[in-house]
Amino acid sequence: MKKIGIFDSGVDTPEEIIIAAEFTPFRLFGDPTIEPNKANEHIPPTHCVWTRNLLELAINELDKDIVGIVTTHGCDRTNREFDIWRECVDLDFMYFLNSPRKRDNTALKFFINDINEFITQLEDHFKIKITEDKLKEAIKKMNEIRQSLREISDYRKKMIITGSEFHGIVKSVQQLDKDEALEFLKSKQENLRKRQPFSKKDFKKILLTGSDLDDTEFIRYIESLGFQIVIDDLGIGTKYFVNDVKENGNPVENIAKYHINKPIHSTKFPSYQRFEVLKKLATEYNIDGVINIAHKFCEPVLYDHPYLRQKFKELGIPYLFIEMTYSREAYKQLSTRFSAFAEMI
Ligand code: SF4
Repeated sequence: MKKIGIFDSGVDTPEEIIIAAEFTPFRLFGDPTIEPNKANEHIPPTHCVWTRNLLELAINELDKDIVGIVTTHGCDRTNREFDIWRECVDLDFMYFLNSPRKRDNTALKFFINDINEFITQLEDHFKIKITEDKLKEAIKKMNEIRQSLREISDYRKKMIITGSEFHGIVKSVQQLDKDEALEFLKSKQENLRKRQPFSKKDFKKILLTGSDLDDTEFIRYIESLGFQIVIDDLGIGTKYFVNDVKENGNPVENIAKYHINKPIHSTKFPSYQRFEVLKKLATEYNIDGVINIAHKFCEPVLYDHPYLRQKFKELGIPYLFIEMTYSREAYKQLSTRFSAFAEMI
């Protein structure tokens, strides 16, 4: 099946629309083993490392089945880069979906209008029809996926699945055809129901937050230093499946409401509400500490850091903040800080 590539830092892209258009939604991830040399010709090197990396991959070559791109306004980096993608990436269909910063009724109407415009442009460009029935079917399918991911996510807390294995599963689901994803998740669930908890001595239970981390190797690396990520609030994580989309009523409205109401991303207003989400997770999962990772030059997460540091201090919850370059070599330089944090908590 042909794919629509998703360039999104906040998982606000309504995949149901793409499924109803009979394409596979295919989230784009970076590659931390390459340098963004060509992207640096278009974007200053003080711009988010992750989005520069994605642009580099897109300039070099996208997956051959991708016939279009939707860029969803996760943060202003995705916004400004969209213009550059239109100049540098050889695809006829590119849509900028303006996911609103606010979460009130005006924002909801604005988002519904823009999703409807996305539908119209897909229909016009690809000569297809996205019907209400197809949208409802797609919502059902995505809800099944969300429910399976919620069950699998809980196995992290029970020490049945590692945070890195779980991360790899969510990543796969964000790129697979959704029928294949459902099969894949079913077989994982069967396997996990039979597994025994692993014994891991002296590990620390962590809530992971920050920029969207798409390198599973990085999660594996953190674990190797004595941590188990029992919960997160990331886009390749709980933000992707925390709730269901309502199945009755107007499908576009239900999809927009789902995205507006899901746990708040750093880039949205008022951003301090993020702390309430993190506090709830920290209590519910009885964590030993919080790790907040910002990709280098990720302004939304950098702005969050002083507030989160202060609030977690007030709660007496150990908190580690790290700003890191998107490169596997760079991870190794962080081992002293991670190890010191593991010893401290
Ligand atoms: S890492 Fe930060 S700056 Fe980069 S796209 Fe994501 S939210 Fe935006």
